[in-house]
Amino acid sequence: MPAIRLFGLPTDINSSFERGAAAGPAAIRAALRSDRGNLASELGPEIGVDIAFADDGDLPLGEDTPRDDAAIRRHVAILHEDGEIPLALGGDHAVTFPLVEAAAHCFGPLNILHFDAHPDLYDDFGGNPRSHASPFARICEAGHAARLVQVGIRTLNRHCREQAVRFGVEIVPMTDFTADRVPVLAGPLYISIDLDGLDPSAAPGVAHPEPGGLTVREMLAVLHKQTAPIIGADIVEHHPGRDIGGVTAIAGAKLVRELAALIDRNGTYRP
Ligand code: MN
Ligand code: MN
Repeated sequence: MPAIRLFGLPTDINSSFERGAAAGPAAIRAALRSDRGNLASELGPEIGVDIAFADDGDLPLGEDTPRDDAAIRRHVAILHEDGEIPLALGGDHAVTFPLVEAAAHCFGPLNILHFDAHPDLYDDFGGNPRSHASPFARICEAGHAARLVQVGIRTLNRHCREQAVRFGVEIVPMTDFTADRVPVLAGPLYISIDLDGLDPSAAPGVAHPEPGGLTVREMLAVLHKQTAPIIGADIVEHHPGRDIGGVTAIAGAKLVRELAALIDRNGTYRP
C-alpha cells in the first residue's frame, strides 16, 4: 500500500477577495492532532497506525508564484519518484495547478474529482491568470485533465459555463445533487477539495461562503464510492480567521483521515 505524505502550502497570495488561507494548514493540522478526536477513519483504518502516514510540515513558500509553483512541483515529483502519495493542505486553490502539473508529468493526463462551490474556470480573474478562481482553466489548457468532474457547483456564470463547454468539464450541480449522479472515475485519480464545496453551516471558515452546499455526509458518499487508485489529493481554502468554533478545521481534519483511508483502500496505480 502506498505511503501517504501530508504537507502544508501556507500561501494565499492568489486569493482574489480576502487573504487568510495561508493559516489553513496549521489549523487543520492542529485539529488532526487534537485529543478532541482520534485518528480513525470511517473506512476502518486508523492513520499512522494501520496506514503509513507522515506529516512533512509546511513547504517554505514565499510571495512569488513562479518560485512557489516550482517548489511545489519539485516536492511532488520527489514523492512520486519514491512511490509515495502527496496529500496537500492549502492555502488558496491556486496551489492545485502546480500539484496537478507535477502529478501529470509523472502519470500523464489525470482524472480529476473536484469539490467546490465555484468551478474555478476563469480565463483570468482581476487580471491574474494564476488566481484561485482560475486553476482548472490552467489545468485544462495544459492538457493535464483526461476528465474533470466538478461536484458542489452553485455559482456558475456565463463565462464559466462557456469555459466548461470549451474544456469538456462535467459538472454535477447542487441544484439536483445526489451522490448517484457523480460518476466513478478511473485511475490515475486526483482529488481536490475546496472546503467551500461544503455548506457554510458545516464549513464557515472560507473566504467565499456560498449557501446551499454539500453536507459532510454527502461529500463522504461521493468519496467513498470512488474505487480507482488515487495519485494525489488536496484540501484547500480553509480560512481560520472566519471559522466558528474550529468546525471547518475539524471538517478538514476528518477529510484528511478519510482521504488517507481511501488512498490506502484503493491501492497503487499501475498503468
Ligand atoms: Mn470555492
Ligand atoms: Mn476553489
